[in-house]
Amino acid sequence: MQKNMYLCKKFVSMLPVEFIESMHQQMGNEAGKLIQALETEPVTSIRLNSKLDVLTFPCDTDEVPWHVDGYYLSERPQFTLDPLFHAGCYYVQEASSMFIQQVLEQYVDPASVVLDLCAAPGGKSTLISEYLGSEGLLISNEVVRQRVFILSENIQKWGNGNTVVTHNTPTEFGERCRHIFDCMLVDAPCSGEGMFRKDEQARNEWSPRAVKQCAERQRRILMDVWDALKPGGILIYSTCTFNDEENEKNVEWMAETLGADVMPIDYDPSWGITEGNYGYHFYPHKAKGEGFYVCALRKYDDELNPAKIKTPKNPPAMQHPEYMPVMRNWLQHPDSWAIRYSDRFATAYPLKYKELIDWMSTQLTCISTGFGLGEERGRGIAPQHCLSMTKDLRKEAFPNVPLTRDQALSYLRTEALLLAGVPLGLVLLTYEGVPLGFAKNVGNRLNNLYPNEWRIRHL
Ligand code: SAM
Repeated sequence: MQKNMYLCKKFVSMLPVEFIESMHQQMGNEAGKLIQALETEPVTSIRLNSKLDVLTFPCDTDEVPWHVDGYYLSERPQFTLDPLFHAGCYYVQEASSMFIQQVLEQYVDPASVVLDLCAAPGGKSTLISEYLGSEGLLISNEVVRQRVFILSENIQKWGNGNTVVTHNTPTEFGERCRHIFDCMLVDAPCSGEGMFRKDEQARNEWSPRAVKQCAERQRRILMDVWDALKPGGILIYSTCTFNDEENEKNVEWMAETLGADVMPIDYDPSWGITEGNYGYHFYPHKAKGEGFYVCALRKYDDELNPAKIKTPKNPPAMQHPEYMPVMRNWLQHPDSWAIRYSDRFATAYPLKYKELIDWMSTQLTCISTGFGLGEERGRGIAPQHCLSMTKDLRKEAFPNVPLTRDQALSYLRTEALLLAGVPLGLVLLTYEGVPLGFAKNVGNRLNNLYPNEWRIRHL
């Protein structure tokens, strides 16, 4: 061990010494390999959206073994320069964390109501929303105000419409949504040791004290939200750190104190995953990706008080029923959606979960619900930008105008476009067949309707 310590310290002057020592205590000789791996280049990976049929990256790709839509990239492209990135065709997601898919497949029915409690910026939420598809409902929550808008943007761009983005505390879920969720993901804020080769700040902020504080905060979060999980429901707990305090010890505490069974997760031995006493570890020297830890627990099924949901007495009425046929015509499956009006805006959300979503809207701070469909303008109704991102958009409902890459980037910078041969009025702009958003041809130019807050600021 002493020999390893010497070699490692020489190799990794940038890593906190106390971290290296704590890993040696925890892992023994294997710590040396982990420490060395933390000084190599991080891996870049993406997960494709079903929006996109073909992968169009210019670089060689290799598949992430535990997620069918996951790919490693041999180099990191400048994603900002790819219009498909802005159209939500893929998410730049750390490969290890895509393993959540395996947990879902093994324990969660797609027709489930799932809470992603610590969701921003939305990597795992977009994965869950894809898994649930049109059968389930995802509540994607972020407690930190500044982070909730990027979460909402990423959810809208992904385009599934089965997601409600909320901004609430774990306690508010525990107290107001008792026994509502079939599954909850707590991807907890942590000390970030698994991000050390990507994130300089994580290295600089690390200390034994920070680890202790994170572990305590994680327990508080778990305790506060626990009541929201149905008896018999699945809690997925994950972190991007290596230490036992925040991982296995918290899971052991959860199982004993809150009352749950730790569940086995199947995996292929060739994937390089390390099975602990409680949960599964992704170490960068063994599994291709950054550091990650995940565990699944099933809550004891001994409290059988069904959740009480009261439908709000006065659900919002449709203000302008004459617009309904117009808006329904924009959708591939109009009968799948409930449509709600608020002020001048019409929102579409899953009809299957209408009662639950209407009730949740009275309990929680909802930032976005399903997708923005229409907006009253003058004496008519215009589509909202979110409609162009949703997979249920009926593209033929609007004249499609294909753009080159340069034109697309110009549109995404919210510049006015000068294009010949475009029909007057509202058009849907596309890039490689994928919708980017709307514009309005007013004769001498196209007015750019891309949301200002999403525009590309720096190229
Ligand atoms: N799941 C996200 C993803 O896949 O993109 C990453 C989540 S990140 C590891 C943890 C999140 O927890 C952060 O967005 C952070 O703002 C949030 N958070 C911080 N303190 C929290 C608390 N006390 N309760 C709940 N969430 C918290």
